Amino acid sequence: PYSGPSAAQILHKRREFLSPSMFHLYKNPLNIVEGKMQYLFDESGRRYLDGFGGIATVNCGHCHPDVVAAIVDQAKRLQHSTILYLNHAIADFAEALASKLPGDLKVVVFFTNSGTEANELAMMIARLYTGCHDVISIRNAYHGNAAGTMGATAQSNWKFNVIQSGVHHTMNPDQYRGVFGSDGEKYAKDVQDLIDFGTCGRVGGFMAEAVQGVGGIMELAPGYLPAAYKAVRKAGGLCIADEVQSGFARTGSHFWGFEAHGVIPDIVTMAKGIGNGIPLGAVVTTPEIAQVLTHRSYFNTFGGNPLCTTAGHAALKVLEKEKLQENAFVVGSYLKERLTSLKEKYEIIGDVRGRGLMLGVELVTDRHLKTPAKTEILHVMEQMKDVGVLIGKGGFYGNVFRITPPLCFTKEDADFLADAMHYSLSKM
Ligand code: PMP
Repeated sequence: PYSGPSAAQILHKRREFLSPSMFHLYKNPLNIVEGKMQYLFDESGRRYLDGFGGIATVNCGHCHPDVVAAIVDQAKRLQHSTILYLNHAIADFAEALASKLPGDLKVVVFFTNSGTEANELAMMIARLYTGCHDVISIRNAYHGNAAGTMGATAQSNWKFNVIQSGVHHTMNPDQYRGVFGSDGEKYAKDVQDLIDFGTCGRVGGFMAEAVQGVGGIMELAPGYLPAAYKAVRKAGGLCIADEVQSGFARTGSHFWGFEAHGVIPDIVTMAKGIGNGIPLGAVVTTPEIAQVLTHRSYFNTFGGNPLCTTAGHAALKVLEKEKLQENAFVVGSYLKERLTSLKEKYEIIGDVRGRGLMLGVELVTDRHLKTPAKTEILHVMEQMKDVGVLIGKGGFYGNVFRITPPLCFTKEDADFLADAMHYSLSKM
C-alpha cells in the first residue's frame, strides 16, 4: 500500500514550489502512484482504466515488464551522454527504427529528449537544406513550445508573445468545421496561395500532423497531404511529418499517420510513443538531407543516451511481438463504432472521428451551429473518472474528448469506456 504524501499535500507543494501555469485534469486532481498496462492506480489503490495514456504515449502499456527490465538492466550498466564515446544502444535502435520507415528515410539524424526538440531540429534542417527561412504549418497544429516550434504551433492557447519568424499558417483541412468539408485538395490550394502571396515563391518547408492531437483528433481531409506536398516541393521546400502523436502504430491501419495519406515525407519527427513513457524523440530523414548537419557540430547532451534508446528499442520490440498495431486497428475500429452509436443517442455528440486508438468525440450544444460544449465536457469527464475511466480533452475550444489509450487496450476495455461515457452522458 501507498504511504507517501496525499493528493492535498502534493497540491499544496505544487502551489508553493511549482509554476502557477501547471495544469491538471479534474476538480480534485488524482494522485496516481502506480501504472500497470492499461490501468492506473491512485493513492487509495483505486484502479482506473487509462484512456489517455497516449499523451505520454505509453504505447505498450504502463510499466510493461519487457521495457522495465531493459531500462533497469541498462541503468545498472551505464547512463551517460551520447557525445564523446561509442555505445551500441543508440546505433542498434537507430537501425531498428530506420527499418520502420518507407522510401529513402534511412538516417536517424538525432535522437532528442522531446517532440519540441525534434521539431526544432527538423525545421533547422529544412532551412539549412533549402536556404529558405519560410515554413508553413497548419492552423490548429501543435508542434512544440520552444522559439521556432511555438511559431509553428497554430493555436493562440499555446503561443506566448512569440516571434513568428517566417512561419505561415495555412487553412486547416478540418473535415468537421472546415468550409470545404472533406475535399482535401481544395484546402491545399491555400498552401499554394501562401507560397504565391506570402513568400518569395520559395519555402524551406511544410510541417503537419496527419492527425492533429492537441487540436482535437482532427484527421486531415483525404487528398490534402499529396496536394500540399506537391505545392511545397514545387517551391523547393521539404515536407516534414510530425508523428509525435500519430506514429508508432497508434492509428492502427498504418505504423505512421502519414502513410494513410499515400505520401512519403522528407523528414519525420517523433517522440511520446517512441519511449513508452521515457523522454525520447527522434528526427529521421534521407542520407542526402542528413548531410547538411555536417557543416559544423551539432549535439544534444542527453538525446539518445543509452538508457532512453534502450527503452525505445525494447518498446519497439514489444509493439512487434504483441502485434499492437493490429490490436490498435481491431480494438480502435470497434471502439469507434461504439462511440458512433452513442452519437445517435445523444444530441450533444457532434462528431466522432479518428483512427485506431486515436479517437475524438466532439461535444456541441447545438449540432447545426456546432457550438462547443465547453462546460458540459468537464461534467462528463468528472463523471467518467468517478466510474473509473480516464480520458483526455483537447481541441481549440477544449470540447473534444481525446481517447488515446495504451495500445494493449482490449475489446472489454473499449466496452467499459463506451459504457462509462454512455452512463455519464445520461446523467447530464
Ligand atoms: N508535436 C505534437 C504533434 C505534439 O502533440 C506534441 C506534444 N503535445 C509535440 C510535438 C511536442 O512534444 P513535447 O511535449 O515532447 O515537446
